[in-house]
Amino acid sequence: MIFLYASIVIILFGFFIVKSQKNQHQSQTGICSICDKSFPDSELQMDETLSFCPEHFKVYNESNWIISKSVECSVGNEKESVELYEQKLKNFQNSQLGFLKTSYKEVNGEIITTLDYYIQK
Ligand SMILES: [Zn+2]
Repeated sequence: MIFLYASIVIILFGFFIVKSQKNQHQSQTGICSICDKSFPDSELQMDETLSFCPEHFKVYNESNWIISKSVECSVGNEKESVELYEQKLKNFQNSQLGFLKTSYKEVNGEIITTLDYYIQK
């Protein structure tokens, strides 16, 4: 009986270790700002707050980007941000590459957060 109890404890403990390792593994991935696919951190290239997969980092560096649309992120305005994100995903499927970048500006002492949608010029 004691042996059975010990076995269960060992199995549970083993399960716990496997689970925590899996979580660690998951946290070592990031998302490409252009294609929104998940990549291991070791493959992603960073530029300020943006991360790119190898293919799109090249595109990012070789392209001129212009802001196509800006949305102010404020309480009650979440819908517009979501719509901008959905538009970006849709455009990506139609081979129009772009990325979203958050910027901050101060207006009358207030910090305004803006979500800018960049597309290739
Ligand atoms: Zn990508």
